[in-house]
Amino acid sequence: HVTALLIWDHLLACALLMQTLHAQRRERIPDTRLRMPYMTRHALIIDDDPDFRELISGLLSAHGFDCTQSEGLQDIACNPACLETDLILVDYELGDFTGDDVLGYLRERNVEAGIILMSACHNDDMQAMVARGKRSGLEMLGQLGKPFDIMHLASLLAELDKQRNPLSLDELDDALTERQLHLVYQPKIDLASGRLSGAEALVRWQHPLRGMVMPNQFIALAERSNRIEALTWQVIEHGFRQQGQWQSQGLHLDLALNLSPQLLRTRDMLKTLDALASQHHVDPHSITLELTESCGIDCLTYARHLLNAIRDRGYRLALDDFGTGFSSMMQLYNLPFDELKIDQCFVGRSDSHPEARAITRTIVELGQRLNLAVVGEGIETAEQRDYLCDTRCNIGQGYLFARPMPVSDFNAWSRCPPSAVNALSQRHVSAVH
Ligand code: C2E
Ligand code: MG
Ligand code: MG
Repeated sequence: HVTALLIWDHLLACALLMQTLHAQRRERIPDTRLRMPYMTRHALIIDDDPDFRELISGLLSAHGFDCTQSEGLQDIACNPACLETDLILVDYELGDFTGDDVLGYLRERNVEAGIILMSACHNDDMQAMVARGKRSGLEMLGQLGKPFDIMHLASLLAELDKQRNPLSLDELDDALTERQLHLVYQPKIDLASGRLSGAEALVRWQHPLRGMVMPNQFIALAERSNRIEALTWQVIEHGFRQQGQWQSQGLHLDLALNLSPQLLRTRDMLKTLDALASQHHVDPHSITLELTESCGIDCLTYARHLLNAIRDRGYRLALDDFGTGFSSMMQLYNLPFDELKIDQCFVGRSDSHPEARAITRTIVELGQRLNLAVVGEGIETAEQRDYLCDTRCNIGQGYLFARPMPVSDFNAWSRCPPSAVNALSQRHVSAVH
């Protein structure tokens, strides 16, 4: 019976492989080999089912990959050289270990390969794990169900192709001169009352060929190439113009803008900021500037001087992503902040990991002791929201309330917030009575 099953599996694998090759000729499946004709690419397949490994291996070979197979974590730990590859496909259920364990291991080893998660489990769980992997810095391409759609595998490989074809400086220069950058806005909610308190502006690049490019793909490039100054001034200008419009429409929101600390080194920074604020009739008290990392310990003194001057004008200052290696206690101690944003890797796990809960609560308490407003970002579940409310965190932000939206959607949203926000207002009303 077992032999019959194995033969059946094998036949199925061959049939699927033939079907892909056929489909690839017939339809427009992106053929990654066409774009990189002289490069053999390597893939590592981690799955405890040998037949499934064979099946995937056959499919990937058809896409020009040279494949290595592995049974699980122990196998990889004994041969870490196999991680130097372009693509890793990892099964979620791996005997003694889970996909989370493997992703944790890949993160610890700073693996740069594109990663596809494979599993027969529920799509939402897979999506959550892919999001967690992305947040931790892994290059997650997406998930593949079991059984899976061959076209879906092809589109994930196309994604790898896109990511391995890095953005060039010329493209970034075009984006700046042709004004391809725009802002989307994510609501910030007062957790005590459920009221909309503000919005964070997040930059997006509408690339003419690649489509929408996310900030994590180009901010670092802009910082490395001294384009960040021009980019940030464009962002501030867009943000101020929008804030001017909201204020003239009677919508009074606090608008948060992300500043690269490199902007602090700009000559005439304060003058330019003042000129933009008066040009767009923006009251600095309605603007929060979010900073992630200082420009280095040695220029903290200068940064403090400049940030004090910015604050004197009425702007609020927030320390973003607090709790990660970049946003340190030293900055909190030395620089004049008004707001502390807890990094989403803690908030996003506060409903499932006791350690993340403890850290989240401790950061809220730290902020309160320092008289800072505390913002929890990355709230995705009602449990995370309720936990933050219990800690008396001031502001919440996350997909549970709303994703970042273009301004027209944001305006419509602000008139009719969803139930996740209304639940807070109801909590507030019952607490008052
Ligand atoms: P950030 O400032 O910490 O922004 C929060 C990021 O988390 C945004 O990603 C937002 O879309 C995402 N996010 C919000 N809620 C949730 C949630 O519930 N779950 C998950 N998984 N994610 C959530 P985005 O827009 O991709 O921005 C990433 C980072 O890029 C930002 O992190 C910020 O550091 C940087 N960035 C964005 N816009 C700008 C900008 O205009 N200038 C500069 N210098 N950096 C920017
Ligand atoms: Mg931010
Ligand atoms: Mg943040």
